[in-house]
Amino acid sequence: MKIDLTGRKALITGGARGIGAAIAADLASCGAELLLLDREAEALQATVAELSGGGAAVRALVADITDPAATLAAVQAETAQSGPYLILVHNAGITRDNLLMRMTQEEWDLVMKVNLQPLFWLTKELVREMMRERWGRIIAISSVTGLMGNPGQTNYAATKAAVTGFVKSLAREVGSRGITVNAVAPGFIRTPMTEKLQGEQIDRLKDAIALRRLGEAQDIAHAVAFLASEQAAYVTGHVLNVSGGLYM
Ligand code: NDP
Repeated sequence: MKIDLTGRKALITGGARGIGAAIAADLASCGAELLLLDREAEALQATVAELSGGGAAVRALVADITDPAATLAAVQAETAQSGPYLILVHNAGITRDNLLMRMTQEEWDLVMKVNLQPLFWLTKELVREMMRERWGRIIAISSVTGLMGNPGQTNYAATKAAVTGFVKSLAREVGSRGITVNAVAPGFIRTPMTEKLQGEQIDRLKDAIALRRLGEAQDIAHAVAFLASEQAAYVTGHVLNVSGGLYM
């Protein structure tokens, strides 16, 4: 089975590094044209240059998704130029961990703005064209934290649990148009987001993971490539847990 995304265009949020960059590399290797959205121009350009060097068709969109109006305007300008994006991967995500008693309104709000709210306004923007084309793939990167909870992460877990309700509901709304809506829920993956974890913390984590190792960004990217493919045409409203057995 070979995944072929030739002729497909994918927009990936948070595509400059970590899991987003790995998803970009995988989708590009399957032939997709990419638009990588991220907020830091330098990191984004470096990733785009690397992928382009390998022969991929990749464009960069510098935008901060905490500003929906500016981001939407930039996405609209981009699609006017390069055509619609029928694959959307909302991968950008942040943590602002704190015990609930100490959590500030700002910490709560920012995590909502980055992790959850773009799923509403960005999907709404792109799904119209997917409906017209009678084909589309909407993939959200969730987290096992949204499935099992984690102390200190009420804000983060709330956004990731909300993803489940979102994909299941939208999948029912748009399924008749050939559009699938799914999520991937990673466990602990080695990326800049998790690099703060220390040796002993990592050992304890490994004990809780059936496969006894942290995941790699590629483990998530392969799952996303599958969900974007023709082969996954009959998979919708699903949250695919890719956690090495941390959660089951
Ligand atoms: P990283 O922090 O490594 O990468 C996230 C990317 O999103 C960064 O490039 C970041 O930019 C970008 N981003 C953050 N905020 C914004 C914003 N306001 N506007 C535009 N871009 C933004 O995270 P990971 O690769 O580890 O995580 C990717 C996804 O996977 C997230 O949704 C995360 O919740 C999820 N996940 C990750 C796990 C892990 O173990 N790593 C586990 C479970 C889920 P910048 O560098 O400037 O912050």
